[in-house]
Amino acid sequence: MKATKRLVKEKIILANLGITLRASLFCMILVPLCIIFAGVLFNADVIDIQVILPAISMEVVSLAFFLIARSMMPKVKKVSSASAAWVYRAFWFIAFNGAMYAINGTELGLAADVAFFAAVLLVSYIPCLDVPEFATLILNEALWIFVISSQTADPFGDAFVNVVICLLCCCISRISYKNRVEAYRMRHKLKRISQDALVDPLTGLLNRRGFDRQVESIWPFCVRNDYKVGLLIVDIDNFKAYNDEYGHPEGDECLKMVAETIRRTAKRTTDIVSRIGGEEFLVFIQGSKEDEMVEFADRIRKNVERLGLPHSRKAGIPFVTVSIGLEIAMPRGMDINMLYEGADVELYQAKQSGRNAVSYSGKVKRKYSALA
Ligand code: GH3
Ligand code: MG
Ligand code: MG
Repeated sequence: MKATKRLVKEKIILANLGITLRASLFCMILVPLCIIFAGVLFNADVIDIQVILPAISMEVVSLAFFLIARSMMPKVKKVSSASAAWVYRAFWFIAFNGAMYAINGTELGLAADVAFFAAVLLVSYIPCLDVPEFATLILNEALWIFVISSQTADPFGDAFVNVVICLLCCCISRISYKNRVEAYRMRHKLKRISQDALVDPLTGLLNRRGFDRQVESIWPFCVRNDYKVGLLIVDIDNFKAYNDEYGHPEGDECLKMVAETIRRTAKRTTDIVSRIGGEEFLVFIQGSKEDEMVEFADRIRKNVERLGLPHSRKAGIPFVTVSIGLEIAMPRGMDINMLYEGADVELYQAKQSGRNAVSYSGKVKRKYSALA
């Protein structure tokens, strides 16, 4: 639970870096627009140095944060969430105070009220600040309310309006934060559930469903390119005897090591490896020549043999070995189940031949008796 919370917080911070990037760009465009707007609508003296100076400062600050946030973005995974969070907080703190100063420093009357509302709304709605961050901003707001209101003819009336504006914005901010955290949490949960449903928890390989999904997505590619497809069923020999001698937990360790060996041997990114239950694994390969595929299957067999895991004496062989059934076909007009049926027949052949063997096309292509 704690880990999930941390992950959600980190995700929000990193996503906020993206928000900072967009918001700083937005501010760069918004500040000159506001000045033009105030000048045209409220006949304000926009040439006043008190307006222009903060506006230029805001442009500079926005540009700086735009560049910093952008430079962090491509490396988002390497950027620590702490530094991303500080960039984010600093941007909003400076942007908010800059806006408040601009509003306070100008005597725009109604325009200042509208701008104040817009600024507080922006800071409340866009950022996703947690409780301590938000509390800091609220204190900051309180200071500005005091400064702004005390300079007007009706300080209490103005303070009241500003407090109402701020309270409204606080509510918006809290709702926005809660919704965002909830959305991230849900997305993370769904992702984990769908991942769990596709992965075998013992070995970390795909399970049958995950395997089928991946094969389904690559199959049309093989059809289009007329690539040969191959399916290997890899089955550990006499595994029952291993479990009987060493116990189930040791059996699980053995399964993990065999799984890792198969995974290491299947180096290509398009090779799909899965454990489909018990001591049986499937490997899907494509785009190689027939003899290369047979060679590949035999490499798996050899690599497992080379692990040198002592087998049960009852098994009649010194080390843990696998038998492999291989089926190769052109993918057009075929499907994975047809390939599986063929590979299953081959596996039977490999077992019949005395195990620790690869069978393909009705022939046991490789059978080493070095260990027998
Ligand atoms: P063969 O060479 O003919 O394949 O013989 P085998 O003993 O390997 O085959 P069999 O199907 O008779 O036995 C498979 C054994 O695999 C039975 C069970 O004890 C073991 N097994 C299945 N799933 C697991 C598992 O998740 N963990 C462990 N430790 N053992 C398992
Ligand atoms: Mg077996
Ligand atoms: Mg089996």
